[in-house]
Amino acid sequence: MNPAQTVEALRHSYDSGITKPLAWRVSQLRALRRMLTERSAEFEDALLADLAKNPTESQAAEIGFVVGEIDHMLKHLRRWLRPRRVAVPGALVPARASVVREPLGVVLVIAPWNYPVQLLLAPVVGALAAGNAVVLKPSELAPATSAAMARLVPDYLDPRAVAVIEGGVEETTELLEQRWDHIFYTGNGRVGRIVAAAAVEHLTPVTLELGGKSPVYVDDSVDVRAAALRIAWGKFMNAGQTCVAPDYLLATPAVARRLAEAFPAAVRELYGDDPATSPDYGRIIDQRHFERLSGLLDAGTMVVGGAADPSSRYLAPTVLTDVPRDAAVMGEEIFGPILPIVTVSGLDEAIRIINEGDKPLALYVFSESPRVRRRFLTDTSSGAIGFGVPAVHLAVGGLPFGGVGDSGTGAYHGEHSLRTFSHEKAVLSKPLKPETMKLIYPPYTEAKDRFIRTLLRKLG
Ligand code: NAD
Repeated sequence: MNPAQTVEALRHSYDSGITKPLAWRVSQLRALRRMLTERSAEFEDALLADLAKNPTESQAAEIGFVVGEIDHMLKHLRRWLRPRRVAVPGALVPARASVVREPLGVVLVIAPWNYPVQLLLAPVVGALAAGNAVVLKPSELAPATSAAMARLVPDYLDPRAVAVIEGGVEETTELLEQRWDHIFYTGNGRVGRIVAAAAVEHLTPVTLELGGKSPVYVDDSVDVRAAALRIAWGKFMNAGQTCVAPDYLLATPAVARRLAEAFPAAVRELYGDDPATSPDYGRIIDQRHFERLSGLLDAGTMVVGGAADPSSRYLAPTVLTDVPRDAAVMGEEIFGPILPIVTVSGLDEAIRIINEGDKPLALYVFSESPRVRRRFLTDTSSGAIGFGVPAVHLAVGGLPFGGVGDSGTGAYHGEHSLRTFSHEKAVLSKPLKPETMKLIYPPYTEAKDRFIRTLLRKLG
């Protein structure tokens, strides 16, 4: 079947109503959970082949992550789907008002290569829980994981309402020409714009989970060595190919000096003396990205790392300090294991630099000072802000995960996923008796005019 035929078949299934009952949604979520647990080893192998991802990390950040998302959804779904009563203004009594979540229809989920299990399936949890039919488009840059999805998903999920379509630009372009009821895209902003432009054609709502440069600020009120270890973990996980990884670090010269001393020890603690031999350290996804990243190493002073091996696409965990703001590494999102430290005079300059760039997906602040934390909270804008820890905010089911401005639009995880993949329908029900509406019908008299003006004041 070509993409158009697949979408047509799914739309037919959706229109028949099979995806709407709670029982179907729960059965699909349970089946997805079974797929992840029973076929865990196949996904681990695929992630190892695509990204040299360590199986423990594959469990924590990919397979187990989605299982957690499913469990959270299954636990609360019944309650989240209940109509939510809303107060009716006195002037409209008697009446009952509520908000009802209904599915959108046939939705498309397009995923990137860096967390190819999590970023494809976590949105699907929301799409199925909300009662939609869904097409999954894995990234062609993670071919082993893409093949595993194409092989396993039809064995577990209802093929009448769930389909995987593999492919690259050509196939995705064809998919984007179809009429969807929602498009959920994760990836870079350039393609995000292509997706948004295609969606306009059918007035399709989109969620864009994009990236950008996520800054870190460290001041002298914290234990700099402990901060360096956490930052190194968040940065070098998946060889820096994480959308919420710290991109660059801002600190005063004194703090930067202490950080420069701390990072070599932090890298050693995580990956040993030679990260090239560590089973816990990943590889760069492809040659194009490897070459792009190798070209960013020549900036400031190297504190640790710098080694690069094109044949295995190994790029050592690298920290550069005293990096000028006009260096290439400070241009685009790095999306690799290079951490530049830029020195600033203090808090005000750090906030100014952050605000001069695009709104980040995440901002991290290592400071014990309530005043400093408050300043970042109120004087900057970002998808998320993490005080004292990078990346893990996305593991808190109750928090919305998404960007703002150039880092994206819309959010998901937990109930936010359900909201993203549902329409919140306004429902108002008013009995025909007693007939209170007559008071506002024409013909208008002076008395009615007075009454309507009073009524409007009460509604406001
Ligand atoms: P990618 O190259 O795998 O592209 C993502 C998807 O877009 C793929 O499925 C691909 O087939 C499709 N695509 C590529 N070119 C296209 C085109 N011309 N037309 C239509 N579709 C096309 O992944 P990527 O974009 O390199 O991913 C990395 C980026 O994603 C980084 O910027 C990162 O920060 C961001 N990201 C964001 C999140 C998030 O949750 N906000 C998560 C991970 C990655």
